Amino acid sequence: MSATAISLGGHVLELTAPYEMKTVLRPDLRQPGPGQVVIRMVALGLCGTDLHIYSGRGSTYPWVTGHDGAGIIHSVGPGVDLEEGQRVAVDPVVRCGQCTMCRRGKVQLCADGGYLGMLGPGLAAEYVQLPAVQLIPLPDAVSDLAATVLEPVAVALHTLRRVEPFMTDQGVAAIIGGGPLGILQAQVSQFLGWDCVVFEPQKRRRHLGSSLGVKMFDPAEAEDIESLQAGPILVIETSAAGEGVDLAERVATPGSVVAIVGRGPHSPSPASILLKELSVLGIKGGPGMYSEAVRLVEEGVVDPASVITDQFPWSQGAKAFAHTAQNPATVVRSVLYGAW
Ligand SMILES: [Zn+2]
Ligand SMILES: [Zn+2]
Repeated sequence: MSATAISLGGHVLELTAPYEMKTVLRPDLRQPGPGQVVIRMVALGLCGTDLHIYSGRGSTYPWVTGHDGAGIIHSVGPGVDLEEGQRVAVDPVVRCGQCTMCRRGKVQLCADGGYLGMLGPGLAAEYVQLPAVQLIPLPDAVSDLAATVLEPVAVALHTLRRVEPFMTDQGVAAIIGGGPLGILQAQVSQFLGWDCVVFEPQKRRRHLGSSLGVKMFDPAEAEDIESLQAGPILVIETSAAGEGVDLAERVATPGSVVAIVGRGPHSPSPASILLKELSVLGIKGGPGMYSEAVRLVEEGVVDPASVITDQFPWSQGAKAFAHTAQNPATVVRSVLYGAW
């Protein structure tokens, strides 16, 4: 099942050039085939990756981005165990289901796989046809808005699962970057026993994180914090910025694990990795953790909707992207929600 199995209908937000987006009307989708479902999108989160694509990282146009979404099942194909009208979140990992990695459950490493909106069409549309395996039913306690921010929760769970074999103990975890990914990583990690500190240069994000019970610091304070703490045994880099990687390298204590969640421009230096005997782990998404993420939200452990600062109706999709791209200091997370 290739990414071309994903198709879009009704109103669609097309990126026609860098920073240029318009709504077009595409033909209705046909009845879905075996294993496929058509959903009507309800809410869509705008992620850092979407903004990179918006600013011209993709090369083919028109392009449709978006991978953090929630919808309602509109129609189901043969062999699908889901009901029309059911609320669902979308797991953004496109996978073939048949290769060695998929059969081992490592769908994020699928040879033909990738993310919705990067490998192929994304979710910025009124109707989306996609494989039923990418849909997670939502209980009433998980709102549509919360469902657009499940990815950071799933990534947090995958990160902790990845680092676990390297840990003999829990202690201080330093998280670099206090966007939705960093804040939710801290909340999930704290719930699971870690003592987290988050480094974030933007004041708005620090305030938001603090209001959610997370210890937030300006990276400029890093040296002072270090003297107060025994030092982190786990460093999680979520910022995807060169400065963030450098800070991760600096605060990592000898023998610690550095988890790379953000796709930054470079890695910690070989000298640091060698001299501090760091274990550097790559974290690619939150494969297989979406149901667990839904459960944590349902139980009230985290409320991912609390990182949403800006909402726009779908009809103002172009404005939502422009506003979010132009205001990184004030917008933490935007979401498209409501009418076309
Ligand atoms: Zn995302
Ligand atoms: Zn595969």
